Amino acid sequence: MATGVFFHEEFVGKEWPVIGDRYERFPTILAELARSLPGIRLIEPEPVPEELLARVHTPDYLARVKRAWYYEGARLTVGAFVRACEMVWSGELDNAVVFLVAAGHHAHRDYAWGGTYLSLIGPALVRLRELGLKRLVYIDTDAHHADGAREVLMGDRDVLHICFCHQDVVEDDGTKICIDVGWSSTDDAYMAKVREVLPTIRAFRPQMILHFLGHDTHRDDYGSLGLTEGFFIRLVEELKALAGEVCSGKYVVAHGGGANKQVAELIWPKIIRLLAGEP
Ligand SMILES: [Zn+2]
Ligand SMILES: [Zn+2]
Repeated sequence: MATGVFFHEEFVGKEWPVIGDRYERFPTILAELARSLPGIRLIEPEPVPEELLARVHTPDYLARVKRAWYYEGARLTVGAFVRACEMVWSGELDNAVVFLVAAGHHAHRDYAWGGTYLSLIGPALVRLRELGLKRLVYIDTDAHHADGAREVLMGDRDVLHICFCHQDVVEDDGTKICIDVGWSSTDDAYMAKVREVLPTIRAFRPQMILHFLGHDTHRDDYGSLGLTEGFFIRLVEELKALAGEVCSGKYVVAHGGGANKQVAELIWPKIIRLLAGEP
């Protein structure tokens, strides 16, 4: 068994919308990590099949996004997330980290913005349901409201979507929640908000936990809430423990927003070690 780390060389050397070239040094960093930790599997993703995208996005929108230069990067990203979810669900991997460009939580069915131009959760959920999964929790700790993911998930009451942003909202029969973390916070105050919602997650009895982790909330990143590096490690530690308790450890973490390379280079190796069970 292993921790899957999904990364593609195509993600390097381009100025991706919003996040820039944040993976510049990741090929070296990940190769070193994989050499020193036997429990890590570095996996190069395939592009997501266009038929699967068509189950989530409208034909008009797909025709438009296909013309964008970042489309192939976005397709590889969605392919990575879908594959990671399949492999963790089937038990081929214990858990996984997915690095991403140009896809994510601001992608609606028929439009997108904010550097994310294909839905991650939509295609993944279609595949997971085909493989028999029913109840899922999707946690979003990016600095910004997950408007696209929310739209795609709305009406599906077997998905508990918890978005930490700048409003308190409960909708869709209590299965779609936003939690106001304010415009400025601390590691402890934000963690307290996360811990408050853990009983709701336990009561929902998910079969898997997916997590969109942005470090744009870091004090030196573009969506700063004043958080420090240590926060992200604690957060993953907490959610990994929760997944261990409620869904046999099935936990997939995707790299959300954040353009600060120093922060990314510091936190992700630690998160991967943590997921792989290293002290
Ligand atoms: Zn963000
Ligand atoms: Zn929200």
